[in-house]
Amino acid sequence: MSSPLPMLLQEKATACQKCGECCRKYYISVLPDELEREAKFFKLSQEKFIQIYCQLFLQVMPLQQGDHPLAIHSSAIPKKIWSVLQKNGISSNYVMLLPMLGFKKKEFCVFFDPKLYLCTMHTVKPAQCSIFPFMAGEKNVDFAKAYDFCELASIASPTRYTHAQADLQKVKMARYFDSVAKKGMENVWSALPQEGIIIYQGKSISPITRSELLELLQLAREKETN
Ligand code: SF4
Ligand code: SF4
Repeated sequence: MSSPLPMLLQEKATACQKCGECCRKYYISVLPDELEREAKFFKLSQEKFIQIYCQLFLQVMPLQQGDHPLAIHSSAIPKKIWSVLQKNGISSNYVMLLPMLGFKKKEFCVFFDPKLYLCTMHTVKPAQCSIFPFMAGEKNVDFAKAYDFCELASIASPTRYTHAQADLQKVKMARYFDSVAKKGMENVWSALPQEGIIIYQGKSISPITRSELLELLQLAREKETN
């Protein structure tokens, strides 16, 4: 049976207005299997692909309880980072750390061609780009309202297929974070960028280095073994 993915891309190719707003607004993260496919597409080793195109993303979320292996108590967070989080309105007891690899970005995602208004890796782009704007697994989201900048959201509706893809993506993300918690970030990826950003509520709030991020994860892990 042929994969339904080309059908989705075809649907999007006709309905998406190619305005590039999604490639401008969002920080796009990538999963290990997606990165492998994308590096092959550009005929690069994964290490080289990471070095040229990727940065670290540390997405943070306030939490009241810290029973997840990637959660850290606020008192364990180094002062410099905790003060950035506080300035951005985080005052919870715990913070969930969601470390990812994602694409570099200035005005647009590094893979967006602003002259042609096209994704330069359209056929192998990450699932979150292929499914956009129908990412939310919930069934009753008003996509036209939630993504009012996106023409596709107002002229198309999520299908059973896009719901299934969004659900699958959630499962894959959960598996990825489990494996980061068990093995450590440096053992999940073949290489890690030296630099990255902390992301809160979809916005970059601070730069972060590889060693700062790994130290934070180590501190969260120590809580697990104490
Ligand atoms: S990977 Fe392609 S579709 Fe996704 S944000 Fe970047 S340019 Fe846009
Ligand atoms: S914002 Fe919507 S219409 Fe514009 S490029 Fe992205 S998916 Fe297509």
